[in-house]
Amino acid sequence: MKTIGLIGGMSWESSIEYYRIINETVRHKLGGLHSARSVMYSVDFADIEELQHKGKWGKATALMVEAARHVENGGADFVVICTNTMHKMADEVQKRINIPLLHIADATAERIKAHRLRKVGLLGTKFTMEEDFYKGRLIERHDLEVIIPSEREREIVHRTIYDELVMGEVKPSSKEQYIAIMNNLVGNEAEGIILGCTEIGLLVGKKDIDVPVFDTTVIHAEVAVEYALGEYTLGS
Ligand code: GLU
Repeated sequence: MKTIGLIGGMSWESSIEYYRIINETVRHKLGGLHSARSVMYSVDFADIEELQHKGKWGKATALMVEAARHVENGGADFVVICTNTMHKMADEVQKRINIPLLHIADATAERIKAHRLRKVGLLGTKFTMEEDFYKGRLIERHDLEVIIPSEREREIVHRTIYDELVMGEVKPSSKEQYIAIMNNLVGNEAEGIILGCTEIGLLVGKKDIDVPVFDTTVIHAEVAVEYALGEYTLGS
């Protein structure tokens, strides 16, 4: 079994989920007392959030590269960045380490294609919904059609993540808003919804909407185990 290298703390509310799902998946697959071999380097999310919202992406990249080197030096065989947003610098991180990085958008796209869906709605931070590092990858590498909420709705989705979910606050009023936004995406012919932020699964899930839901935390964690056990090929 390969050792999984997790870069966590973005936020730790979702890192807990990664750790739990990874170990549950190993137990399910191998049985008995088996659990995952892993190392985690967990950042201070206050630093990350400040750099993101001030647009200091160079510094944020340096921080992610440093974190990735910590997990590499800690004995990890590959790196899992436990957030969608910080995949903005995934290519740069990959260039500066000697172990592979398991990209969250690739793992998610492969699940979507396995469901034979083509047009999907994307929820996440504004960075993830609006910039090309994520959406572009889904479109160009995976031939998916990606739609996003309206500007007003994107603001709601983004603010809910930073003001509530990363602090572990799950409000029924926010859940209602997210469900309405997901329904609007389905109204615009989304055949599935990507929960493209690792905390969104704390708020909504497959019970809340009639189309398939792709929770990036669950998918990324499960695929990390598949790769660790030699069941998944990178770039497949
Ligand atoms: N965990 C979130 C994501 O998946 C947002 C926190 C962050 O900005 O890293 O994008």
